[in-house]
Parts: sequence; structure tokens; C-alpha cells
Amino acid sequence: METLVWNTLSEDAKRQALSRSPLVGDDSLATSVSDILCNVKRRGDSTLIEYAARFDKAEIDTLALSADEIAAACERVSPELKDAINAARTNIARFHSAQQFSEISLETQPGVRCELKSEAIEKVGLYIPGGSAPLISTVLMLAVPAAIAGCTKRVLVSPPPIDDAILYAASVCGITDVFQIGGAQAIAALAYGTESVPKVDKIFGPGNRYVTEAKAQVARDTQAAVTIDMPAGPSEVLVIADDAANPEFIAADLLSQAEHGSDSQVIFVTDSRTQANAVEAALERQLTLLPRRETAEGALSCSRIIITATLDEAAIVSNLYAPEHLIIQTREPRALLPRIRAAGSVFLGAYTPESVGDYASGTNHVLPTYGYSKTVSSLSLADFCRRFTVQELSAEGLKGLGQTVMTLAAAESLDAHKNAVKVRLDAIAREENRQ
Ligand code: NAD
Repeated sequence: METLVWNTLSEDAKRQALSRSPLVGDDSLATSVSDILCNVKRRGDSTLIEYAARFDKAEIDTLALSADEIAAACERVSPELKDAINAARTNIARFHSAQQFSEISLETQPGVRCELKSEAIEKVGLYIPGGSAPLISTVLMLAVPAAIAGCTKRVLVSPPPIDDAILYAASVCGITDVFQIGGAQAIAALAYGTESVPKVDKIFGPGNRYVTEAKAQVARDTQAAVTIDMPAGPSEVLVIADDAANPEFIAADLLSQAEHGSDSQVIFVTDSRTQANAVEAALERQLTLLPRRETAEGALSCSRIIITATLDEAAIVSNLYAPEHLIIQTREPRALLPRIRAAGSVFLGAYTPESVGDYASGTNHVLPTYGYSKTVSSLSLADFCRRFTVQELSAEGLKGLGQTVMTLAAAESLDAHKNAVKVRLDAIAREENRQ
């Protein structure tokens, strides 16, 4: 990893130091994804089967998995793995159940009642990555909140062949619609619908750059009328540590993200050059033992170690980068938390590796990447619901508010708006005169 001293860098070099991997996206990516979307829209299921052969090297006859196939897959999962899936599910369900929305109902002035309500989104599509690793945990991160929210149609897609444990996790979360489709073509199928795949209202889930680009493109297509959770692309982690941290822990955390894909990125920020050197040495040692060494090395080639003058400056660097995951391993990690302005999920202290949030602490691992954590929140129960407002006025309420509305409508030259109030105020006045 390249080591940089923050204070010695020009503004341009600072921007460069915090730039994402060049592998993340370019014009050719947008074109190839748009071609895939068009083909699925035009030719439906047959294209999906062709793409499975081309991109996933899987010969399949049908896209949907039957209840029998899912049950047989569940049988093959070891009891130990089933227990781990269920333990993780319990924590994720606990944390997401606690996020239930509290309705608001109040009078803004006498006779003018305003309400904020929430209702589950009916049809949701859940994308489970499966290209380089079967992300069983992502099933829990999406299907648990979708069930708690009360989404009635939950459609799961994942590249073929779908791992048995993914099917077990889907099954314990009550998902029955499972399709073996991956990549941009899976996103197209969910957005537009095909002969066998139902069209959904909102698409959730992380994925590689093809999946993320496809989600962005379908969200821009007003004819598809589909929304997406967030840009949740290739994984990123930024670690802030001081000289008291254990370099072996830091190296292990950096590698845990680097092994996701060569387009993943890891950044280590420290106020101690000794710590920077120790982490580099630990990285080299741990890399040699890693089965996914080549992938991790690819990611490390676009990753950086940044030395800052202070920990406050480290927090500033982190806010500029706006990482998906932020790990703080300092003497007083909580003291730095108020300085953090942008991070998808924060991991505090020596005993909180990012892996716990990836799998089982209870927080959601679907998080904004590419710097979107400045404005986009981590996935939560609210994302599976739509909020809407209700208002109800009594005659007294309209009498109290009517003139304000008519004045504003007149100022905007919107006479019909003004009239919709006036005809009612006139009717109320006539009624009052009769009594
Ligand atoms: P994936 O399922 O996202 O992608 C696999 C699919 O990519 C294949 O089915 C194939 O259709 C498509 N594809 C591959 N090469 C292609 C090509 N040349 N042209 C067109 N399509 C092609 O699985 P993955 O590749 O393992 O990626 C998972 C990603 O999800 C990783 O980058 C990981 O970092 C990320 N992730 C992100 C979060 C988050 O919250 N941000 C969480 C978990 C995982």
C-alpha cells in the first residue's frame, strides 16, 4: 500500500489520495449494462437463461426454484451453519424490530389535524450477490427487515448456482419466490418483469459494479417506476488508529474488506508513523496466509496508508472520504465519534471487527459506498416502508386557515387553488346564516 503524509500533499494530491478504485466504473460499463437492460426488456426469460450461461457459466432450464428444490437444499445445510444463521437472524430481527415507526398525529392549529403514517412497500426485490462469494448474510440483512415491515411480495434473486445456505436463509425468512439470476440482468428482470419474474416496486441489495450500475439505470427510467435502496457497490473500509492499537487487528480488518474483490478499497489513517509501519508488516504477513490472496492484493494496489498530524485530522480525512465502514481503534474511540460526519456504519474499539456487523451483531451490512455515506443512510426498516401524510380539517379549522391559503394562492396567481377554499368558506357562511 502507498503511504502518504497528509500535510505534505497538495489539494489535488489529497483528492487523488481519497479517490475510489478506477475499476469501479467507466463509460464502457454504462454501455454494457444498458445493453443488458434492453435485451432483458425485449426478450425476457430466454435472455436471462443465455446470460446465466455466458456470465455465470451455468446451464439452467428454468429461472424459478421450486419449493422441493429449496427444501432439498435446506436438508444439505449443516446443523452448525443453520444454528449460526438463526443466531444472526435473531440479532438482526431484534435491532430492526426496534426501528418500528411511531405515527404522528397532531393539530397544527385548532381544527387542522396532520398525520404522518407509514405502510410497507408491497413488492420488493432482494438481490443477493453470489459472483465471488455466496453472501448468505445479505439474505438476512434484506429479508428480515422486509418481513418485519410487512412487504407482502418478497422476490429473491441471486446468480446460479445458488448456494444451499442462501436458500436455507431465504426459507427461514419466509421467502418463497426465488430466481437464479445474477448481475445487471437480475436487476432488469426485477425492474421490468419477465414471463416468470414478477416486476417489483423497489430493489434492494449490494452487488458488484454491474449490479450497482444497473440499479442506477433502472432508477432513472421513469417508465420502470421502480426505486432502489442506495448505491451499495464494492466494499470499502477506513480504519483510524493511534499507536495504542494492535497492528495485527488492523491488518486483519483491512484484509477482511480487501478480499471482497479487486475493486474493493481499504484506507488506513493514523497519527503514528510507527503504527503505519507495523500495520504494513502485519499486512504482508497475513496476506501470505489468505486463500483469496490474489483478490486482496488487487484491492490493496488501489489502497492507501495516510499519516496525519493528529486524530482530529484523521477524522477530517475520514469525513472527506466518507467510507462505507469506519473502524476506530484508538485509546478513546467514543471520543472521536462526535467528529464523524460521514460513514455508513462505525465500529468502535479493539474488540469490534467489521466482520461482526457484516454478519451478526444486528446492524445492517447494506451500506452506501462511493462516498454517498455523506447523505445516504445505512439500510434500515424505514427503507422497506413508504411514509405518507394525512390531513383533516373541520369547518372551524378551514375558517381559521382559509384566508392564509387564499392569500398565498392569489400571490402565486393560482385562482383555482384560491377558489377551492373560497367555495367552502362561502358554504360555511351560508349554513351559519341559516341557523
Ligand atoms: P454479484 O452477484 O454482485 O455479481 C455477479 C454477477 O456479475 C454475475 O452473475 C454476472 O452476471 C455479473 N458479471 C460478472 N462479470 C460480468 C461482465 N463482464 N459483464 C456483465 N456482467 C458481469 O457478486 P460479486 O461479483 O461477488 O460482487 C459482490 C459485491 O458486493 C462485492 O463487490 C462486495 O464488495 C459488494 N458488497 C457490498 C455491500 C454494501 O453494502 N455496499 C455489502 C456486501 C457486498
